[in-house]
Amino acid sequence: MRLFSDFKYLLFPTRCFGCRELGYSICSQCRKLWNPHPYLSKVSNLMVYSAIPYSPVAKNILLAAKELNIKSADQLVLIALRASLSELFQKHSSCALVPIPSGRSSNRRRGRDFLNEIATTVAKDFGVAVLPLLEHHRNIRDQSKLNISGRRENLAMALSIKPQFHGNYSGENVVLLDDLVTTGATINEANRALTRGGFKVQAAATACVALRRRE
Ligand SMILES: [Zn+2]
Repeated sequence: MRLFSDFKYLLFPTRCFGCRELGYSICSQCRKLWNPHPYLSKVSNLMVYSAIPYSPVAKNILLAAKELNIKSADQLVLIALRASLSELFQKHSSCALVPIPSGRSSNRRRGRDFLNEIATTVAKDFGVAVLPLLEHHRNIRDQSKLNISGRRENLAMALSIKPQFHGNYSGENVVLLDDLVTTGATINEANRALTRGGFKVQAAATACVALRRRE
């Protein structure tokens, strides 16, 4: 079978970034899974609008965009966020987007501020501004290895409003933007920091949502 796989590799010298199969950068199976539908969830009192259920394939697509800088993966994230935001802006008046910031070390590693870039592109479609208001004021640990209470502890008071925005835009309506909502700890913390700074957080939009099974 060696010969066959070599031949296949010559025809498709790339792998699907969703499932790692040889073929196009995103295979038709994985592309089918990335089909936006409105998903509504709630973090405290905040409505979260999402478009794609989180899955191993969705995880790989987000990683391909964030960590590997694959442009077609960026496009998929944009498609999802556009769907989430169209749903959101049917219920809420249009207002500025606030991307949830990645840690400084992630931005250094990636060579870009992923969500800020995505927000800037998607904001143009809706004719709204991007306000990169938030920053991490201490180092946070990688969330993926922590459970719910660990995440809550890790994120408590982790975000604050950048000094240059203090006292500005007071009372301004904003919408939070993130790639994924799992436990809601990040969105909760961003909501807390912005509300404390005098902003009115209308809702949040994410590309993916980790649907919790009802027990
Ligand atoms: Zn695939």
